[in-house]
Amino acid sequence: MMIAYLDQQLRLAPGTDVDPCGAGGEIHPDLAAASEDFGGVVRALPAAVHRPRSADDVAEVIRQALRYDHLTVAARGNGHSVAGQALAPGGIVLDMRTMSRMELVRGDGGQICADVGAGVLWGELLEWGVAKHGLSPASWTDYLGLTVGGTLSNAGISGQAFQKGPQISNVDELEVVTGDGERVVCSPKSRSDLFFGVLGGLGQFGVITRARIPLIPAPPMVRWIRVVYASFEGYKADVEWLVGRPEREGFDYIEGFAFVNRGGDPASGWESVPIGPSSVFDASLVPHGSGPLLYCLEVALYHQLHDGVDKRVDEMLRPLKYIRGLEFTAEVSYVEFLSRVNLAESAARANGSWHAPHPWLNILISASDVSHFDRHVFQSVLKDGIGGPMLVYPLLRAKWDPRTSVALPDSDVFFLVALLRFNQPYPIGPPVESLISQNREILKRCKSNGYDFKLYFPNYKTEPEWVRHFGQDWARFVDRKAMYDPRAILSPGQNIFSRAR
Ligand code: FAD
Repeated sequence: MMIAYLDQQLRLAPGTDVDPCGAGGEIHPDLAAASEDFGGVVRALPAAVHRPRSADDVAEVIRQALRYDHLTVAARGNGHSVAGQALAPGGIVLDMRTMSRMELVRGDGGQICADVGAGVLWGELLEWGVAKHGLSPASWTDYLGLTVGGTLSNAGISGQAFQKGPQISNVDELEVVTGDGERVVCSPKSRSDLFFGVLGGLGQFGVITRARIPLIPAPPMVRWIRVVYASFEGYKADVEWLVGRPEREGFDYIEGFAFVNRGGDPASGWESVPIGPSSVFDASLVPHGSGPLLYCLEVALYHQLHDGVDKRVDEMLRPLKYIRGLEFTAEVSYVEFLSRVNLAESAARANGSWHAPHPWLNILISASDVSHFDRHVFQSVLKDGIGGPMLVYPLLRAKWDPRTSVALPDSDVFFLVALLRFNQPYPIGPPVESLISQNREILKRCKSNGYDFKLYFPNYKTEPEWVRHFGQDWARFVDRKAMYDPRAILSPGQNIFSRAR
């Protein structure tokens, strides 16, 4: 059945790369959708799209694809990569969204967990967990329209990661189909090398078909706060102090972003700071002589109703050295807080920037280099903003398991710098080439200044670049590839290995 299906699909589809402008021709709708991603910069037509219902379906597709010398297989979560990582040029795309089962189970240690298909969106897990069971995963991404399998193949970070670790530090068990077509259930105790390899493994060692995620009681309410700093040094000192506080004495969520010190730019100016439509940014409070950028610390405290939250928040904010008067606060439900990016998505869809190209750049940079980065990149290359959020917030290496495949800077504290460009399509917005060349300039400065940094969602084309990216862990990455996907059939869009016969 599957052989006939593949043979038929391979005859139907040309299976070649198409140019970035998307040259015409009769393309099956599924193929068209699977030939691009959120980035909108790279396009490649697959030969076939398959919608698996089970791990056995995934295994069968992989085994059948192995019969062909050239075929590759890419699991596609929700296609929210930005550089073609979920594409399979001339190969088979597995549309993982069909694997969407969710079940409450007890983990080995008795902990309540969600057993979820890899194609479940984090937003679906949130709604199901909270509405049906009052339970929630501990670690999130900012945006929840991402799949469990997709973020676990990278890391999955947001404002909880400083305390709870990234999403890859919050998994008890995985079901994986390797590049040999073998279905394996793995965990930190069983087949642990595959378990850790797949976490942050960029889809290279297996297709995740199911993940077991520990759940915690969902708090009813969240106090959500933003405060503003005139200097990066002031922001950095406070945010680093905050992420080092003992769990019971600190906030539950800590992020921050740089924004342009002027009005009239809702995406990255003063207007991007107030929470909700009723508060306004009083620019007269910004000290004279402040630079082109200001910095916003964003924190949240989860709480029960009527539990003295005002007093706790006052005490926690008192030692911080932000500009008094530039505080913004909202009281929202837990689900509302975690879904906060939905509003930005609606606005971006309405103004056309959701469907425009997104040449994003995400960098993890050592805390000892981030001030230099602020002076020589933020305040110079990026001083006019990027048409979207410029996140900059700290993460703690101790919360990341070194056995996973993610490459990190060497330092104990490092910052995520996320340049999330939301420009309108050219010619209303800038040409995409100018944004890509700005990214290149930033990376050039990172290298020439000798920063200790790694790309988050790395996007390299050559082996020497990948060797540099993984550093001393490159040999382990290659060994894992040889062990779990020896013919390099999986996730070709990452451009790390070439398909072997
Ligand atoms: P895809 O883009 O479809 O796939 C990503 C990679 O994983 C591909 O190589 C694919 O082959 C592989 N893959 C997908 N599913 C599987 C599977 N089941 N098994 C094995 N490999 C698989 N990231 C954060 O960490 N924090 C954020 O706050 C955050 N916010 C974002 C906001 C937006 C608007 C967007 C577009 C992205 C954001 N991301 C964030 C990035 C996101 O984590 C990545 O795009 C990630 O790839 C998940 O997206 P996806 O589920 O659509 O996966």
